[in-house]
Amino acid sequence: MADYDYLIIGAGLAGASAAQGIRELDRQGSVLLIGGEPEPPYHRPPLSKGLWLGKKREEDIYVKTAPDWQAMDVALHLNDAAVELDPGGRTVTTAQGRRFGFGKLLLAMGGKPRHLPDAVREHVFTLQTLADYRKLRALAAQGGNVLIIGGSFIGAEMACALAQQPGVRVDMLFPGPGPLAQMLPLPLSLLLAERFREHGIHLRPEDRAVRIEATDKGSRVLTERGQVLEADWILAGVGLEPNTALAGNAGLRVDDGVRVDAHLQSSHPGIYAAGDLANYPDPVWGDAVRIEHWDNAVATGRAAGRNMAGAETPFTHQSMFFSDLLDIGFEAVGRLSSRLETFVDMPADYRQGTAYYLQGGLVRGVLLWNNWDRVEAARALIAAKQRLGPSELRGRLR
Ligand SMILES: Cc1cc2nc3c(=O)[nH]c(=O)nc-3n(C[C@H](O)[C@H](O)[C@H](O)COP(=O)(O)OP(=O)(O)OC[C@H]3O[C@@H](n4cnc5c(N)ncnc54)[C@H](O)[C@@H]3O)c2cc1C
Repeated sequence: MADYDYLIIGAGLAGASAAQGIRELDRQGSVLLIGGEPEPPYHRPPLSKGLWLGKKREEDIYVKTAPDWQAMDVALHLNDAAVELDPGGRTVTTAQGRRFGFGKLLLAMGGKPRHLPDAVREHVFTLQTLADYRKLRALAAQGGNVLIIGGSFIGAEMACALAQQPGVRVDMLFPGPGPLAQMLPLPLSLLLAERFREHGIHLRPEDRAVRIEATDKGSRVLTERGQVLEADWILAGVGLEPNTALAGNAGLRVDDGVRVDAHLQSSHPGIYAAGDLANYPDPVWGDAVRIEHWDNAVATGRAAGRNMAGAETPFTHQSMFFSDLLDIGFEAVGRLSSRLETFVDMPADYRQGTAYYLQGGLVRGVLLWNNWDRVEAARALIAAKQRLGPSELRGRLR
């Protein structure tokens, strides 16, 4: 059995950021990253954007090169998932039967895409890994009809990416009135719907799949409203399930993710969690949050790594997130839910501006719509916890 001072399960963005955080404070301690994928850590946002649109190549998406990892003296054990954690004995066992001892442990296993119930799996795909991207890329190269199920980030971004591939027809089926309707104020979701249609995407809003059947050519989807949709293949973007089994089986506190305190330490001393998997107290409001975004993985990973190396610093970063859809790009901070009251500070064409998400008059979230370099100001506004009305908000973050 090999022993490491720091063991990191999950060679994704949070795991890589944690290794960085450890090395900021401890140059000597031994560090091992265990990864279930064959790839060293890479950035996932290009899988649904830049790689499709020719803005990035596969070799551009890795967090670090092999020589960088060597220079940092961080070892990688890839293509072998951790299957058992013994917190008391301080060991982790992998699928291939390897056992590793640890001083401190980070759980950074992210999540896995939810599957549609009863879906015929051979024609229904999801997108989370580089291997998934390569599979979808090969399918798209053959042209044909693709049905995207789900109107959230993966569904919306992939509709845009696939609609730009020659010979591909895209239909998109989702429950809301427009893409990203669960987080955008209605006029912005409807603006996206209009832009998607202009780009040849066939939208099927306010509906959901109830049955998926295999056909000679591909799949047939029957919907709640009685539509019958034929597709060569289906891409499902219906959410992520945090990978909690390993922690749960080991007796750690788990609900929606692995519960950690403000230092990102789990219910077991010396075991931390970060990234998509971590459920931690919101730095401003204190309520438990689990965030599935790039900046959160970087920040929680680095902070957890530093705390594993002795920093003992509470996590205070307010995560931001971003997306690009056709000619619309946005950044956002805080809680964005179309269930909150919103104040949309934009001209009538909704092409550029800010939307504020309010709860009891307090700003809980800020959406910066084609509106750049305002993230810090948005964070400060949320942290100020002031009661602000439209007249005070108008023009504030333009
Ligand atoms: C297609 C796509 C596009 C995205 N675009 C954006 C975007 O535009 N903006 C944004 O803010 N966010 C975006 N995200 C989200 C962002 O990429 C994630 O929030 C981030 O990658 C989370 O990092 P993580 O390290 O927590 O998890 P991951 O990056 O998922 O890494 C977890 C790793 O752990 C491994 N693992 C799981 N179980 C085990 C185990 N038992 N043993 C060993 N290894 C294991 C997994 O294989 C995986 O490699 C996107 C995500 C995807 C999939």
